[in-house]
Amino acid sequence: MLDKRKFYINGKWVDPSENNDFRVINPSNENAYAFITLGNKTDVDNAVSAAKNSFLEWCNTDIRYRIILLEKLYDIYQSRWHEITSTMSEEMGAPLDWASSAQTASGSDHIEDFIKRLKTFEFERIFEKNSNNKILYEPIGVCGLITPWNWPINQITLKVIPALATGCTMILKPSEVAPLSAMLFAEIVHEAGFPPGVFNLINGDGDGVGTDLSSHIDIDMISFTGSTRAGKLISKNAADTIKRVCLELGGKGGNIVFSDSHSEAVREGVRNIMSNSGQSCDAPTRMLVEKSIYKRAIEEAADEANKIKVDIASKKGNHIGPVISKTQYDKIIDLINSGIKEGATLVAGGPEKPAGLEKGYFVKPTIFTDVTNNMRIAKEEIFGPVLSIIPFEDEDEALSIVNDTSYGLGNYIQTQDKEKAKRVARKLRSGGVYINGNVADPGTPFGGYRQSGNGREGGDWGLEEYLEIKTICGWE
Ligand code: NAD
Repeated sequence: MLDKRKFYINGKWVDPSENNDFRVINPSNENAYAFITLGNKTDVDNAVSAAKNSFLEWCNTDIRYRIILLEKLYDIYQSRWHEITSTMSEEMGAPLDWASSAQTASGSDHIEDFIKRLKTFEFERIFEKNSNNKILYEPIGVCGLITPWNWPINQITLKVIPALATGCTMILKPSEVAPLSAMLFAEIVHEAGFPPGVFNLINGDGDGVGTDLSSHIDIDMISFTGSTRAGKLISKNAADTIKRVCLELGGKGGNIVFSDSHSEAVREGVRNIMSNSGQSCDAPTRMLVEKSIYKRAIEEAADEANKIKVDIASKKGNHIGPVISKTQYDKIIDLINSGIKEGATLVAGGPEKPAGLEKGYFVKPTIFTDVTNNMRIAKEEIFGPVLSIIPFEDEDEALSIVNDTSYGLGNYIQTQDKEKAKRVARKLRSGGVYINGNVADPGTPFGGYRQSGNGREGGDWGLEEYLEIKTICGWE
């Protein structure tokens, strides 16, 4: 067993105030292979005071100095690429090749893009011509950064890098279920030479460290990515201190496949939801198919799902891995059973384990058809490799079904009619719309409408989240 009980506070790996062991489990074989400690209020206070004490000096550092340190961090990240990949793969079940090309690569892209944005971001602006009012963008202060397990390094780099770039100090609390890649990231920050106290890491769970950070009087902002359930609790716990709360939450994306879509559209949609074993917040989990191609779409979707291999994460190749934990596994199987009970038609997969994979949290790529938008599988975020297919008559009906959700993160459109695609994209209530498989460029804003959250990460928008805005009148 790996002993990973220490926290990174004030530039050093230190013992927790008391041991409260938590086992890190490899979801491919259900074996515990590392211990961490879940921190408590004393650990949080220690980390917050380190971050608070280092803030004044760090927030006044020259931006060119911060760029040099971030470029060092980027180089170290590249040199430890394989270690980052294998650590994430083992803790959360992403197969090695995909963990490298998608998960580790996303972190690298974010670091690179934030450095680029920092070089041109205007921290000082004159309000308008002939005005003597100056607008300053200043770091907000001490930040609590709380991240999930499904894209661990992606989420960490989307928060830690802009916080460092803007001159904030911080305490990172990664998911207790997949904390080891975060601890490796802390080593990288240390090696890059950031001053003690600027970046701190504490492990813990939501009820403990997560709640203590959210309600802490000396924390100026919480940036959270995770479930809508936890986002609501964080907002409530943060209310008394009026701190800024930025939330990136769940989703229930729709993928509208019109009859004039390209021939691979349905198969592409299936691969997209199954990727990361369905554990992506912006996955297109509801596929809406125009009635005239519904029968063909079902056949293609079932065929594509049956082609997707499921296997352990440490094997190389183009398969999907297990889901993260027993809790998630049980929740997914319960939802699959609810789909069967509520009358949806199961055309691929199902609640049984894939053959030969009895140990580990493996779920078969599963497709339901004849789903209606009031079934649990159409309403709730399943967070597993499960797709619900819903037929529609025309554009208006498709839009009303997709927008009939409390979420609003990512929606997808498949059609070769460019004007229709643009028209539908404008009417979709979500932070992202992806037409015909196009992806977001680095530096574009990412976030949700409605209960998918309230902030935007990435690019200049991601930097602005960590900044206060000051108006100085009479500058000249
Ligand atoms: P989760 O909400 O259970 O946990 C996320 C993090 O919050 C963990 O670090 C956890 O310890 C902490 N936490 C839990 N309860 C808390 C509380 N009451 N107070 C403070 N912290 C608390 O989510 P998860 O299961 O780790 O991740 C999956 C969820 O994350 C899904 O809902 C997914 O859609 C969402 N997600 C959203 C985005 C996005 O950008 N919108 C990206 C990735 C994942």
